[in-house]
Amino acid sequence: MSGHLMNTYMRQPVTFVKGEGVWLWDEKGDKYLDALSGVAVNGLGHAHPKLVKAISDQAARLIHVSNIYHIAEQEALGDKVCELSGMDNVFFCNSGCEANEAAIKLARLYGHNQGIENPEIIVMEQSFHGRTMATLSATGNYKVQAGFEPLVSGFIRVPYDDVEAVKHVAEHHPNIVAILVEPVQGEGGINIPKDASGYLESLRKICDAHGWLLMIDEVQTGIGRTGTWFAFQHTNIKPDVMSLAKGLGSGVPIGACVASGKAAEVFTYGKHGSTFGGNPLATAAGLATLNIIAEEGLRENAEKIGDMIRVGFLDALKDTAGVVTVRNAGLMIGVELDRPCGELVKMALEDKLLINVTAEKVIRLLPPLVMNEAEAHELVKRLSDLIKQFLAKSAAK
Ligand SMILES: *Cc1c(COP(=O)(O)O)cnc(C)c1O
Repeated sequence: MSGHLMNTYMRQPVTFVKGEGVWLWDEKGDKYLDALSGVAVNGLGHAHPKLVKAISDQAARLIHVSNIYHIAEQEALGDKVCELSGMDNVFFCNSGCEANEAAIKLARLYGHNQGIENPEIIVMEQSFHGRTMATLSATGNYKVQAGFEPLVSGFIRVPYDDVEAVKHVAEHHPNIVAILVEPVQGEGGINIPKDASGYLESLRKICDAHGWLLMIDEVQTGIGRTGTWFAFQHTNIKPDVMSLAKGLGSGVPIGACVASGKAAEVFTYGKHGSTFGGNPLATAAGLATLNIIAEEGLRENAEKIGDMIRVGFLDALKDTAGVVTVRNAGLMIGVELDRPCGELVKMALEDKLLINVTAEKVIRLLPPLVMNEAEAHELVKRLSDLIKQFLAKSAAK
């Protein structure tokens, strides 16, 4: 272990050296079941042969040139993302926070173009949009912001899944230009709106009535994870702006700010840029990822396996006091307990199982989209045993 890394992560005591599908191996040769996918990144699992080939071939040909030139792979991925989303154009960057930064800049410019000098964006409680100054300011978690004040201004916060709160704010703030919202809150605890499609549809109506942009952060929900290419596709609406990252490059860093209609015309020459954004290697990885998801039916698989895992937990944990709910949107799965359960991450690691806990009490699972039925059963069995052990132990204290 190096003493020369900044202490920004509380790392688990393990180093992985290789992977295949939903499995990872550490230096000692021990095998782990990966139910986290590098936090929703490795949708294709580890070392998918078609992805490895696409990346290797591209690396051998051309890794980077600069956006000063045309990039064929970037153009092809832009076409593909627009074909799948029904949206109009894309700005490529390298991460989720950068995709949201682009969205925030786009919304502000959209406001300025209409003579609104202090444009404001509605954001949600418990949201997560990233760690740059603008995106941590948009994030609804004080822990992410503490120590970094002054925050970027121009955000108005309302409770998640509360349409009335948005309507109320609309009456009192003439400078609003956009709403930024996650279809399902990931870091916030796998929070699924009560009427998931109704919520986004209501926000769409409010945006249309006021001339605001509806900006959907699909960094975690996108790229097949909830059973559709993008989570908004469970509804009848389309956003004006969508941010993507995590699963898009299967681990090769890439983000995207996607726009449609009037939002697609906001950025003009010189308004935004990125040295690495959309380079040949990253966009080849993105194209391969989308093609493999389509060829292998991984959206359908995400929906089927996600539901199977939820039902499996509900059954295995039905008589277990301390389990509040099990909820999922495809392969975004949350098991909420009645007490803080960070300790379960360590217990699971000792059992060679990779999970995450977010919002203190929610076990978060983001398995690779390639997970099969046998692996899903194994996950449910092993994790529900650990949950029972943990609850028995922490009740006994
Ligand atoms: C992870 C995440 C981000 C931030 O992405 P980075 O690539 O870490 O910058 C933004 N929004 C959502 C919804 C996320 O889940």
